[in-house]
Amino acid sequence: MNGLPSLPRQLVLGAGAYDSLVAAASEARLRLGMRLMDQGDVGYVDGAAGMDVLVLPEPPAIDWVLDEPGPAIVCWAEGDGVRAHHSTRLGEGLGERLGASVVPSRSVASDRVGAIIGADALQDTCVAVLGLGSGGSFIVRELARAGVGRFVLLDDDRLEVGNVSRHECGLNDVGRLKVNAMRDLVHRHNPGARVVTSTTRISGDTRSEVRDLLLGERAELVICATDTRESRLLINRLCLQGKHPMIIGGVYRRAYGGIVQRVIPGLTPCYQCFVQALPQEAADNEISSVRDASRTSYTDREVTPQPGLSSDIVPIALLMVKLALLELLDGRSDAFRTLSADLVAPIYQWINRRELAHASWDPMGVNVDSQSVLRWYGVLLERSTNCAHCSTGANPYVGAS
Ligand SMILES: [Zn+2]
Repeated sequence: MNGLPSLPRQLVLGAGAYDSLVAAASEARLRLGMRLMDQGDVGYVDGAAGMDVLVLPEPPAIDWVLDEPGPAIVCWAEGDGVRAHHSTRLGEGLGERLGASVVPSRSVASDRVGAIIGADALQDTCVAVLGLGSGGSFIVRELARAGVGRFVLLDDDRLEVGNVSRHECGLNDVGRLKVNAMRDLVHRHNPGARVVTSTTRISGDTRSEVRDLLLGERAELVICATDTRESRLLINRLCLQGKHPMIIGGVYRRAYGGIVQRVIPGLTPCYQCFVQALPQEAADNEISSVRDASRTSYTDREVTPQPGLSSDIVPIALLMVKLALLELLDGRSDAFRTLSADLVAPIYQWINRRELAHASWDPMGVNVDSQSVLRWYGVLLERSTNCAHCSTGANPYVGAS
C-alpha cells in the first residue's frame, strides 16, 4: 500500500481520537476509522472504531513488522502529539512518515494569547450575544478566539443566501438557524466552550424569558447586536434590571458609519438616555433583513434592507470586541491596562464615508486637527435627567454598586 496516491499526506486526530490514543498507550493497540478529505490529502480520525488506522500502545521497536492486515496508517503517542507512518505490507516494517496534527479538546487561545490576557483568563466567563447578524457573528468569533469559554447566543433568524457576504458563516450554513451555525463556529475555535442557544424573538411578550436566560446563565456581559431600536430598548432595560454590563453597537444606513455604546448599570448613560439625547443617530441604524424592516415600528417611512459592506461593519464590531475584553478582564491584563485609560467614553463614533450629516467633513488627507473618516471619536454623553430607566431618583441602580 505504501506510496499509493490515495494515502493521505497528513493525519489529523480529533480530540476524541487523541484521547483514545493516549488511553491505548497504557493498554493495547486499537483500530480507528479514518475519513479522507481534500481528495485524499488529509485523513481525519474522530475516534470512531474502524480498520484504517492502527494505534500502537508504545513506539514500535526497530525490528517491528506489521503483523495484521489492513491498516493504511500506523501511529502512536509521541510527546504531546502523535507520530504517524504509512503502513506497509504484512510482515514488513513502517512506511514513509506523514505529518500529523492533534485537534485539542480545549481552546488553544490560552496558549497563544496567554501572555496578553492571562492563560485561561476567560474560560469560565459567560458572554451573551443577542443578535447574530454580521456584527454579532464577528464578535462571537473574536471572543471565542480570545478564549471566552461560555456563550449565550440568541437569534430567531435563519441564515439566508443574502446574509453570506457579510456573515461569519458561509453558504454551507444557509438555511440553518444562526444560533446553531454560530455554536458550531465557536466550537471550531474552542471545542470545550459551553454554548447555550435560544431562538426566542425579543419582544415585550418574551422579556421575562430573556431576562431569566441572562440571569440563569449569569451573563457577565451582554452584547446587544440587534438592529431594531425596539429590541435594543428592551435589552437595555433588561440589562439595567439584571445589572449586566452591556455593549451595544450599530451601523448607520448602508454602513456609512456606526456607533458603539457601553452601558454600565448605575454608572454610565443607558441606551434610553442615548435615544433621548440623539434621536436621529439612534434611529438611523441600518436594517439588514426584510423581516426587520417590516417590524421597524419607529418610523412611518418605508424601510428596505440596505446593503453595507462587511469591511464597513467590522470596524464597529471590532471596537465592541475590545470594549468587551476590557470589561471582562477588569484590569487583570497588563497589556490592556493602558487601554482602559483610553476607552473611557460612554459612546464612540466611527464614520466610513463622508455622507449625509458628515458630508461636510474635510477629507482625511494628512491633517490630524480636524474630524475625518476612519477614526474613532469618543463622545461625551450625560445620563438623561428624565430617562425612565436610569435617571437619578427614578433609578434603583444608582449607587447600588
Ligand atoms: Zn438612561
